[in-house]
Amino acid sequence: MDFDLDLGLGLDALALTAIVAFDLDDTLAPSKSPLDVEMAVRLAELLERTNVAVISGGQFGQFRSQLISPLEQLGAGRLDRLHVMPACGTQYYRWEGSDRSTLGQDDSGWVRRYVETLDHSEKARAFAAIESSARVLGYWPEDPWGEALEDRESQVTFSALGQEAPIEAKSIWDPTGAKMRRLQAAVAPLLPDLEVRVGGSTSIDVTRRGRDKSFAIAKLLESTGYSLDDVLYFGDQLREGGNNHPVAAMGVRCIEVDGWRDTLAALDVVLARAKRNRASADGAVGDPGR
Ligand SMILES: [Mg+2]
Repeated sequence: MDFDLDLGLGLDALALTAIVAFDLDDTLAPSKSPLDVEMAVRLAELLERTNVAVISGGQFGQFRSQLISPLEQLGAGRLDRLHVMPACGTQYYRWEGSDRSTLGQDDSGWVRRYVETLDHSEKARAFAAIESSARVLGYWPEDPWGEALEDRESQVTFSALGQEAPIEAKSIWDPTGAKMRRLQAAVAPLLPDLEVRVGGSTSIDVTRRGRDKSFAIAKLLESTGYSLDDVLYFGDQLREGGNNHPVAAMGVRCIEVDGWRDTLAALDVVLARAKRNRASADGAVGDPGR
C-alpha cells in the first residue's frame, strides 16, 4: 500500500497538492450539518491556494446548505476553484457566475457540468426492490422525517428514518450498521445490474455499477487534467467496506480522519507548510477545467 491511513503517521503526506479533496459528512462537518465557521475559514484559505473538491453521496441541496452557504456567507473569494461532486460524482457542479452579488441569493452561478441520470426502468426497479425488502425486514418507516425513498436523478436513496431525521434518532437506530447491511444484502440480488451500497448511517444508495467515490475521483481527473498523484484526499471510513475506501484503493494519497476537528488540525499543517514554502515557490496553482 502506498497510501497512509493513519493521521498520526501521515504528517509527510500533509503537503499542498493541485487538488485537495474531501468527503463531506463526518470529514468536513457533522452528518448533514453546516460547516463550522472555523472549517469554513480554513477552506476559504485553501481555495486561495489550490483546487478543493468535495465528494459525497448527498445531492446538491445538501452541499448548498452544508458547504456552499457557509463559504458564501464568509465571502470566500475563490469559489471558482471549488469542485462540487454530489451523488458520488455522478453530478458535477462549478461556480461559473460572473456576478458575485448573486452569491447567497440563488444558485444561478452554480452550473451543473454534467449529470448521469438513471433511466425510468432503473429507478422504478430500485424503488420496488428497496420498498419490498425494507417491508419484509421491518425497516420500512410508517412515519418518516421527510421522504424515505428519494429520486436523486443519478441515484436512488432510501433513508430508513427519512431524509430529515435528526442525528440523535439516526445514531441510535442502527449503531452497529447491522440493519443497513442486512437490507443491502436483501436488495442487491434483486438489482443485479445496479450497485446497492450502504450510504450514511441509516441509508442505502442505488446507482449504476462502479459509481462509488473512485468514480468521482476519475471524473474529477478527467475534468481537470490532473493525475492521481496530484490529489490528497481526506475522509472517514477509509478502511475496507467504508464508503471512502474506493478512493484509497485506487491509489490516491488518503488521510483518515475521525470527525471534522481532525480534518481541521490536518489542514492547519497543510496551510502552515504552504505558507512556509511560498517564498521558494508559487504555492497557488491554476484553474483547470474552465
Ligand atoms: Mg463520511
